[in-house]
Order: sequence, then structure tokens, then C-alpha cells
Amino acid sequence: MTSARGREPSGKRDVNAPDAHGDALAPDRPARPADLPGVDRLLRLPDAAALVAEYGHALVADGARDMLGRLRDRARAGALQSAGVSDAALLAGLADAVRSRLEPAIRPVLNLTGIVVHSNLGRAPLPEAAMRQLASVGARPCTLEYDLDEGRRGERDEAVEALLCRLTGAEAAIVVNNNAAAVLLVVAALAGGRETIVSRGELVEIGGSFRIPDIVGASGSRLVEVGTTNRTHPHDYESAIGAHSALLLKVHPSNYRIEGFVASVPETTLAAIARRHGLPLACDLGSGALVDLSRWHLPREPLPGDMLAAGCDLVTISGDKLLGGPQAGIVVGVKALVDRLRTHPLKRALRVGKLSLAALEATLRCYQQPDLLVQQLPVLRLLTRPAEEIRALADTLRPELATALGSGWIVSTVALDGHIGSGALPVARLPSWGLAIAPAQAASGRQVEILAAELRRLPEPVLGRIVGHRLLLDLRCLEDPDALRRLLPAIGAIDLPGRASGTTGAIDLAP
Ligand SMILES: *Cc1c(COP(=O)(O)O)cnc(C)c1O
Repeated sequence: MTSARGREPSGKRDVNAPDAHGDALAPDRPARPADLPGVDRLLRLPDAAALVAEYGHALVADGARDMLGRLRDRARAGALQSAGVSDAALLAGLADAVRSRLEPAIRPVLNLTGIVVHSNLGRAPLPEAAMRQLASVGARPCTLEYDLDEGRRGERDEAVEALLCRLTGAEAAIVVNNNAAAVLLVVAALAGGRETIVSRGELVEIGGSFRIPDIVGASGSRLVEVGTTNRTHPHDYESAIGAHSALLLKVHPSNYRIEGFVASVPETTLAAIARRHGLPLACDLGSGALVDLSRWHLPREPLPGDMLAAGCDLVTISGDKLLGGPQAGIVVGVKALVDRLRTHPLKRALRVGKLSLAALEATLRCYQQPDLLVQQLPVLRLLTRPAEEIRALADTLRPELATALGSGWIVSTVALDGHIGSGALPVARLPSWGLAIAPAQAASGRQVEILAAELRRLPEPVLGRIVGHRLLLDLRCLEDPDALRRLLPAIGAIDLPGRASGTTGAIDLAP
């Protein structure tokens, strides 16, 4: 289904539809299951031998079994024409099936959604330096846990720990699989079997089923809720602290805001309460900016260093949100507590792999050159891209896209509101520009949905967002206009409702 992406008009790339490749001479009658050959006979055809030579017997035979099974089902249902069982049709279907099995399912897309750090699209695009590190250590042995000076086993997190301490002012740091794992480890190590105290205003759910009450429960700690949804006061914490209390947890309400009659306890006050009772205070900061974004006229997110300075003992952040690196969970803070996490059995279970660690180290090294950060760190580069530059890009691409789409569509340059994404600064808007695509004839049903689906099927899928009867393509994250230009021939070939038939054939689709 995927192998012919972009090379054929839509609706004709289903590998189950070899009728599309059919022999024009075959009479058009329903095929019976018995008309289909067995795997062995199919593979003995000369062209099948060529496929076997190229891709190996196991893959081709498996693809053939799969395809024939599905065609047999269709024949049984009376939904297969005899043209579909011709040798030519079967071989074409088999070649498609084999190639599509080799195509990665995880592949690049053009993120024109307007959401820069998009959790469903892999969050932060990695810096060049991180990509170089991945390529260099991925295929070769590396010093992941090896101390070259001593010639013996070393510590996995050591290199990034030093960088994180310098960047946040922390005494110690560790890295685990993601921030959810970081919170899990903090609560398990510091409050397993005892109580974790959290404000009711901070019992958040982050996308992908991260919920503070569930994480605390899964850590083996008992959640003690204090305050109310909108207001929590110092005395709420004070009166909840008892003999079984082990941890105060403050959670950054990343992805929502409560406005109006609200009160929460600032970290400095909470830290004083924690200290008075001899309890640690941990803060789940979530998005994890390591530099003050207001330097670039973006809204300021609290930094881990601010939280430590305010008296938090541990702070957890994600590696792939505003930090701009790979998926990872980072804990920074007081050495004695970080050491307890380091030796907890869950640390081993949640540890981060060499690829993530290498990419994280390279990303953190970018922060050593703050003046270059906005160029080197894609997340920051995209977030700070001037609206005027995006507008100019939209103006340039507009006529090209309009030509490719043809007269059935109207393409206009529009001002848009983007988002940072991944729970960072949920109410902050990123003023942006993009292209709005609308059907030229007043809405005939689902045209825009059909167009959006076709754009998702391009060789490099294009993801926008539908608002009303328009498909909006926010160009903030399109740094290379040629990435879209390369797709214009395939866009021109899409078999869209409203497109005069015959135009598709006029465009040369040769790759
Ligand atoms: C995003 C987020 C998490 C989850 O982090 P992952 O790295 O996705 O596991 C946890 N807490 C907060 C406050 C967040 O914003």
C-alpha cells in the first residue's frame, strides 16, 4: 500500500488491487479462488525469480503468501476481477508488497501543523551536532560506560552529568528514559511505601496517559492531595504532613492554565515548609528550557536552575521538549538525593541507551555556546523564526502550490497562530504565516479532508490542520522550501475531486 507512494494517482496504489495493473485483454469477470496460483507456481515465473534474486527468497515468498491469501479472501467475497489474477497483475502486486515491507514505517514528514514541538511527530528535531554523534557512535563501540583514564568500567551518565550541573547549577544529575520515568524514579526512591504530598491544582495529566496520581501510585507511594483545584495554601501542606510523609512534589501545570480566583504555594515557601519538616521537595518541571526564552522575546518558562535556587531539592525535565534534544528524562539536584536515585533498582530499568545519551550530550554541548544556540538548536531556531521571514516564504510558495493544485483550489497567504507544543506554554501563541487551501467551488462535502488525506500520502507526507473548510499549512517549520517544491509534481498528480480529468497525465512523475 505504501510502495507506490506518489508515483500513481490516488486510489490505485492498494497492493490488494492488482486489477490496476491488469491485462487489458483479459475478460472482465469475477475471479474464483481457484484461479489464483499457489506460492510455488507464482515464484517460478521468470519475473518472480528476478525479485527473489534482488530481495531474497524468504521475503518474496512471505510477501507472496500474504498477497495470495488476501486475494483469495477477496475472490471468495466476489470482489476480485479475473484481470486481477493475471500473471502480470500478480507480479506487479508482489513487487509492490515486497518493496513496501522494506520501507520504514517511521519516516520523515513535513510538519506544517504550526506546533513546533509535536509529541506525535517525534518532538524536537535534533541539532546537527547530535546527528553527527549518532552516526559516529551508533555503528561503533564507544565509551558509554568506560573510563579511558583508568582503563576500567565508568559511569554511564558521567559526561552529561557534568554538563547538566554546569548548565543548571545543580550538584548532581542523572538521566533516564523520559521525564515520566524521572518522576517515577524520584517518587519510588524517595517516597516508596510512604506518602507523597501534591496540590490538587497540580494533579495533571500530560498527553499519552502520564497522570501524576497514577505515577505516584505506580511508584509504590501513597498520594496525599492537598488544597483545591484552584487554590492551595501553605497551611494545606503543613496540616497534611505527618509521620508517614516522605516527599513534597510540585508539578508544573505544563499544558493548561487556571485563571481567576487562584492561589498556589511558591517554591520558596514550599521549600521552607519541606525543610522545617525534614522532607525533600521535588519539582516536575516538564518542558525543561535550559535558557531564558525571554531573551528571544518568547514567554519565559521557569528554568531548573531557578527551581533549585528557590530551594527545590530535585528537578525533573524532558530532554525532547524545549531543551531540544532526544527523548530523555533528566533529574538535577542535591547530590545525596541524586545518589539515592542512582542506586535504586528502577534506575537500571529506566536507564537511557547509548544513542539517546550521545545525542543528549551533543545537544547539551550546544548550550556551551549561547550565542550560537539559536542557530544550532532547531527547536530554538524554529521558535524564534521571524514572522516576516515566514510570510515571505508563504508568498513565494503560494503561486507554485496553486499551480500544482490546479483551478479547483484557491491558495492564499494567511496569518496564523502556532504553538510551541508538548505542554510548553499552552496559552502562548506563536504568530506565524502559512498557506490556506480552500476549494474554489463552495464546499461540496469532504473535499478538504480528501485533500489532507492525499497530502499525507505523498512521498514525504505533508501534515497541516483543517479549520472550517480550509486546510492550513503553517510554514514556520518548513526551513527548506525545496522540501515542499520536490512534492509539487506529486501534488499535481493527485486525483482530486474538482480537478479536470486529463491534467494528471500531463505531468511527468518520473522520480
Ligand atoms: C511532558 C511532561 C511530562 C512527561 O515527560 P515525558 O518526557 O514525555 O515522559 C511530565 N511532567 C510534565 C509537567 C510534563 O510537561
